Amino acid sequence: MKMQMGVFGHPVAHSMSPVMHQAALRELNLEGSYEAYDIAPDELKEGIESVRSEGYRGINITLPHKVAVMEYLDHVSEEAQAIGAVNTVVNEDGKLTGYNTDGQGFLESVLERTGDLPDKRVLIIGAGGAARAVSVSFARHGVEELVITNRTLSKAREIAERCRQWCEVRVLPATMAQAAFTGFDLIVNTTPIGMFPDTDRMPMSLETVRRNALVCDLIYNPERTRWLSEAEKRGAKTLNGIGMFVNQGALALEMWTGKKAPRIAMEKAVVEELKKKL
Ligand code: NAP
Repeated sequence: MKMQMGVFGHPVAHSMSPVMHQAALRELNLEGSYEAYDIAPDELKEGIESVRSEGYRGINITLPHKVAVMEYLDHVSEEAQAIGAVNTVVNEDGKLTGYNTDGQGFLESVLERTGDLPDKRVLIIGAGGAARAVSVSFARHGVEELVITNRTLSKAREIAERCRQWCEVRVLPATMAQAAFTGFDLIVNTTPIGMFPDTDRMPMSLETVRRNALVCDLIYNPERTRWLSEAEKRGAKTLNGIGMFVNQGALALEMWTGKKAPRIAMEKAVVEELKKKL
């Protein structure tokens, strides 16, 4: 099978996946390609069929197709089913399996900073697709408690229901989560609040953040959001979304190629590309 890969999204021109995966292929000295394909929702079924018929090794799936793609695959991994979304498709001789590497990608970047998590109390801000992946991965890995807060509380409750089989989960309105802020060891912004160009905004107040808590942002543009700068000023550790983006791509690449992904070269390509966008 040709080492032909890509990403399906709509829109997809802004995606940094091609630059990152092309750098990885060069570093591994592998012959292959990775392209972005703008696929409208009504073209998704046909697009997935062409993955099979054209012998693509694999495809990343981004917005808005992460849920819809599941019905066109032969198999969906247990983790992707738990998350309810697929971001990576692997083609084994025409049989397509869907995986989700977003949550695991984030989890790995957190573990690199904190060691293990079973005694950690975690606050997730937001309840969209990224929050779903991150929450399920934390819950499956095991944390002491997961608290989810979101503007639309029904979406936070839906994620909590998915996660309760693995750990303690509570849903709190923003005012109550803010009142309990000092008690969290790990706080993750999964909303787009603070993303370029609205870089002055923050999802919550950091006034009562605990020193040495780990404050995370899934945003990577800008690399250092106001949320992370303010956390650092108050003595917290910080983590941006670059590690998650690189790790989710690295985990996909490892499934496609069977080789250890060159994470450092991939991160370098992403950081250089981000500089061009500023
Ligand atoms: P999404 O499904 O649209 O969810 C967005 C969430 O943010 C929702 O819970 C939404 O609340 C909340 N939100 C949005 N605007 C808000 C506002 N003005 N005030 C309060 N809450 C607001 O998006 P997503 O796919 O989860 O992505 C979320 C963020 O994660 C984006 O910044 C994306 O770039 C980033 N991300 C990063 C990576 C990575 O690899 N680093 C991967 C995926 C996503 P409601 O539920 O009330 O609408």
